[in-house]
Amino acid sequence: MRYLKDNEKVLFDPICIEIGAERCQRSLVIENDLGVMCAAIDISYDMLKSCDYYKAVYNKSRMPFRICCDVTSLPIKSDSVTFVFCYETLHHFPYPALATEEVHRVLLPGGHFFFDEEGYKRVLHVNLYRSKKIYSREKLRAGIFKKVIDYFFAIRSCNEIEHGIIENDSISIDDWKDALKLFDKKNIILQTPIRAIKTELFHPKSLLKYILAYLIGGNISGLCQKKGSIVNDNISIYKVLICPECFENKTEANLVRNKFGFKCKICNSVFPVMDDVLFLFSQDKLREFYPEIYRTMNNMRFIDENGARAF
Ligand SMILES: [Zn+2]
Repeated sequence: MRYLKDNEKVLFDPICIEIGAERCQRSLVIENDLGVMCAAIDISYDMLKSCDYYKAVYNKSRMPFRICCDVTSLPIKSDSVTFVFCYETLHHFPYPALATEEVHRVLLPGGHFFFDEEGYKRVLHVNLYRSKKIYSREKLRAGIFKKVIDYFFAIRSCNEIEHGIIENDSISIDDWKDALKLFDKKNIILQTPIRAIKTELFHPKSLLKYILAYLIGGNISGLCQKKGSIVNDNISIYKVLICPECFENKTEANLVRNKFGFKCKICNSVFPVMDDVLFLFSQDKLREFYPEIYRTMNNMRFIDENGARAF
């Protein structure tokens, strides 16, 4: 049983999930340094696969359980997960509510959701020119005056946009309030680039700081709790996976392991494990996102039905 250090009431295990886990660096630390089994979820197979590299670089022995799936339709049983967290993830959705409503659904009553380094809208901002890429040498070495001018007048520029990934930097404070409204307890902080100007999103102590934070924009982070009291029953992540195919029809069907990966107990769909990454998409989504794996799966199923050979 593990808790966040500065808050004895936040339970990590038995089921801890990172959404938008990318290369799984954070999941690796939780899995190895805290000894908590962590499931790393991302829609990018390549990102999840790169965890092999980072495991070697950081000299870690245990690998998080990696699931390639869609966070807006999490293949996880309702009311089952102890702790969900993410880092720089929610701004990749058109609306953060698409992800947070699913997070809320899968959390156990009393379970927690932590998120960090997400942006919120800069009201005092005009797009006049394109800035150098974030984390570029020019951007990092810019003087304070250039940084301030860029902050209020430059169009953000980063690698993700070039790869077709949504970079939503216009999520308003109201959008964030809407995304978090389902949670019972919320400790959410708006932090502007000026360190002293930060405020609570809900029930701010200083109206002036709230107005300044609203106008300037910045980062939003925080901890939320689903209503209820947590009951730790030591269940594992494998027991709470559900079939994405059945879930499209509002049925939460358990999965069982088989020689290919995982299989639905109700519709018999099979979900493959490739390079230790579990693919949990409905057939339509798998065909759209990963056509090569979809084709491989269908060939495998044909072979399996004829009993010719195991995968
Ligand atoms: Zn099914």
